[in-house]
Amino acid sequence: MLDYQAPCDLLKDKVILVTGAGDGIGREAALTYAAHGATVILLGRTSAKLEAVYDQIEAAGHPLPAIVPVDLKGATAAHYRGMAETFSQQFGRLDGVLFNAGLLGTLSPFEHIQEKEWDEVMQVNVKSEFLLTQALLPLLRQSAKSHGDATIIYTSSSVGRKGRAYWGTYAISKFAIEGMMEVLADELENTGVRVNTLNPGGTRTKMRASAFPAEDPQTLKTPADLMPLYLYLIGPDSRGKTGQTFVAQPK
Ligand code: NDP
Repeated sequence: MLDYQAPCDLLKDKVILVTGAGDGIGREAALTYAAHGATVILLGRTSAKLEAVYDQIEAAGHPLPAIVPVDLKGATAAHYRGMAETFSQQFGRLDGVLFNAGLLGTLSPFEHIQEKEWDEVMQVNVKSEFLLTQALLPLLRQSAKSHGDATIIYTSSSVGRKGRAYWGTYAISKFAIEGMMEVLADELENTGVRVNTLNPGGTRTKMRASAFPAEDPQTLKTPADLMPLYLYLIGPDSRGKTGQTFVAQPK
């Protein structure tokens, strides 16, 4: 799927939300979606990083994005409902969401997992995605009805399909995301809202470096290498695909 070639106007007139848009894979996805015509809503916790992405999109002459600074660790259902209301007023539509923000936490033996860290990782990787999805579904359903398609991508990991020693809370959170995707995809089957997970595989980012400090990053794919799949899944060429896990770098 990494050889998919997207037309340069693939996402013209579309409004797409990317979480964790300030760094790593999310940053690259936001830039790429904007370069293919989308108005991108940049959500993340570090305003300076989001502003840098905004500036880059503006300088390239792509549709102007919007910035939503929010820490997913502390946001509540009311915040997310307010956000959905703002998107509705400002843009009138939402065609796609890339749930990309994620927290690795500390890799440790199961018996050493700290309750506080369990809560934080589950909050950012699972609960915030559940609450934000709930808040955004009316907008996504509306887009599917009016424009024929809307899509949700959750970001998974290989440890979200096969548990691995010491990957504790992170792995369990990604299993939860796989489950959420399957439940929701089944429920939304006839609505035109598609729901899939995307497992990027080992990618040259800060998160990967903290999980594998001894690894040579030059041996890894870059976020840019993965963008064909990120474009395919967010755009209309993947229409009809739902309830599936897409693996960017199959073994
Ligand atoms: P990075 O750590 O490079 O980027 C993660 C992004 O999420 C950052 O922009 C970060 O914000 C944001 N984020 C983290 N916590 C919060 C929070 N509490 N509130 C708001 N935003 C937050 O990670 P990657 O780009 O590597 O990972 C992206 C996704 O891909 C994750 O879901 C990860 O689990 C998954 N993945 C990555 C792999 C890899 O090899 N890189 C492999 C498999 C899956 P800030 O910049 O402010 O820190």
